Amino acid sequence: MILVTGCAGFIGSNFVHHWLAGSDELIVNLDKLTYAGNLDNLQSLADDPRHIFIHGDIADRALVEKLLNQYRPRAVINFAAETHVDRSIAGPDAFIQTNVVGTFQLLEAVRNYWSNELTQSTTPHRDAFRFVQISTDEVYGSLSPSDPSFTEQHPYAPNSPYSASKASADHLVRAWHHTYGLPTLSTHCSNNYGPFQFPEKLIPLVIKHALSDQPIPIYGDGQQVRDWLYVGDCCEAICNVLERGRAGETYNIGGHYEKTNLEVVGTICTMLDEQRPRADGQSYSTQITHVTDRLGHDRRYAIDTRKIESELGWRPVENFETGIHKTLEWFLKNYP
Ligand code: NAD
Repeated sequence: MILVTGCAGFIGSNFVHHWLAGSDELIVNLDKLTYAGNLDNLQSLADDPRHIFIHGDIADRALVEKLLNQYRPRAVINFAAETHVDRSIAGPDAFIQTNVVGTFQLLEAVRNYWSNELTQSTTPHRDAFRFVQISTDEVYGSLSPSDPSFTEQHPYAPNSPYSASKASADHLVRAWHHTYGLPTLSTHCSNNYGPFQFPEKLIPLVIKHALSDQPIPIYGDGQQVRDWLYVGDCCEAICNVLERGRAGETYNIGGHYEKTNLEVVGTICTMLDEQRPRADGQSYSTQITHVTDRLGHDRRYAIDTRKIESELGWRPVENFETGIHKTLEWFLKNYP
């Protein structure tokens, strides 16, 4: 049995589906149901006894301790976070509260459980227990076009309130391993895309605006580069890290697909032109509108995945074309 947090959101809900497609091990899902949490993402599991949903906050230490003692998970995976950079610029408070204070409270609850409730003779074993923190490539800051990709040794240089709050959480996780010996693992994944993503993030936003005949906004010159990772590949990587990663280590996860925002939007417009042509015969790309750039907008992220590939044998299965095809198919079916 594992306890996951924030799994009514985008990556988390994909993770729950991915997990239960390959395992009958029980999954307990603690989620606060903020604007980004949506139980519809888990609708198909409504009657599945392998998934237990708990409405609550990772910052509620008493609740987390109660759940840990009740369900006795062998692992905790923390997806829960405030995640949208623009929202962090407009109002950072919630980011500090959930991403920093929430992670701290969660770590303390987990440490109590791990050190007081688990021994070598309990199920689960104390040594086998794992805490996995889901972090982001954004903690490393921004790259210039010729810089090498982020390795796990890249110095931290978070630029937004969001990435600074995630970096703070990473430091807490690292310290809880170093000081208390808590068996933690951290992942830094690049920009995910796929089913169930909330339509404030680039790819679902473009699809939604295109199909509803609204301007498709592009920040600044649209030349910001991201390393696009299909969410199913990310979920599989996290499973690998959980099962075979070395405690105390961090693993970068990327899709090997660096693309500018403008290229991503252009690809989606072209695919929509083929699959759902506009009534007036024009291309969806005519809806593209450049808007004032985001404050402090990072120019480029790119991930070096050699560590997870060589140590854990993980590689992304989808390339950008196949991943975006699946994504578009899902959105066209679910938001006709
Ligand atoms: P999301 O915004 O779609 O979902 C976040 C979920 O966390 C929601 O269900 C929300 O209700 C829940 N939540 C928020 N605060 C909570 C709290 N205090 N207690 C319990 N639940 C709470 O996020 P996502 O895109 O699925 O990202 C998941 C994780 O992956 C985050 O930690 C994020 O930093 C990280 N990440 C995401 C991406 C990406 O491209 N989406 C890339 C790198 C890292």
